[in-house]
Amino acid sequence: MIDTHAHINHEKLKECLPQILSDLNDNKLETIICPSYNIKSSQSSLKLSQENEKVFSALAIHPSETNDYSKDFENFLRQNLKNKKVVALGEYGLDYHFEPYDKQMQKEVFLSQLEIAKKENIASIFHVRDAFDDFIPLLKENLNGFCGGVVHCYDSNLENAKKLLDMGLYISFTGIITFKGRDELRDVLKFVPNDRFMLETDSPYLAPVPFRGQVCIPEYVCEVYKMCSSIKGLKMEELEEITRENSKNCFKKLVI
Ligand SMILES: [Zn+2]
Repeated sequence: MIDTHAHINHEKLKECLPQILSDLNDNKLETIICPSYNIKSSQSSLKLSQENEKVFSALAIHPSETNDYSKDFENFLRQNLKNKKVVALGEYGLDYHFEPYDKQMQKEVFLSQLEIAKKENIASIFHVRDAFDDFIPLLKENLNGFCGGVVHCYDSNLENAKKLLDMGLYISFTGIITFKGRDELRDVLKFVPNDRFMLETDSPYLAPVPFRGQVCIPEYVCEVYKMCSSIKGLKMEELEEITRENSKNCFKKLVI
């Protein structure tokens, strides 16, 4: 199993990190992709990927951290996206969940990073929360030269999912698919073609049932896999093979 999105460099996982890494080396999981959200997490994600064979990194500024974005950071991106362990630019996008937010600033930082992903010929990991009405047309207008990517932690309706699939994107699901009352989201996963989805924890957030409410760790991704296998009627081995292929197709530098 692969956890395609886990913030193992997050403060909340500081004490568990040695255990997470040793479990990873004991093959409890095949690999972890550690995405970034600001300058500090980009640096630590990069470092973790250099020190641990089975950890891959993604670098970016999250829409809620746009104050961290600068010319210096762009240079950091250009330099390090070439690193063989950095598989994507991410997570970046739009987030209109918590007020106050600056839509204009978020759009500028999103578009600047999108241009860098294109120039560096690398996939994107998008974070989109309560902002699909802006995200979808904005990406659509700028698809020329786009190297593909995934909308992570998908938590929207079927209509938006169809629009993302039409743009060639992958859609990634977290432990939310195990939550009570989320049948609509489970139906979205059922609809997404088998060659277009991925699974993740988004650790330390969104621990799946039966760990809901606890700090989430990557090995809990097995609960997301179990739920997905029942939703899609796939055997675990089939599901593991599918998500492995999808991850490798999306993140070209991912070696598993
Ligand atoms: Zn995340």
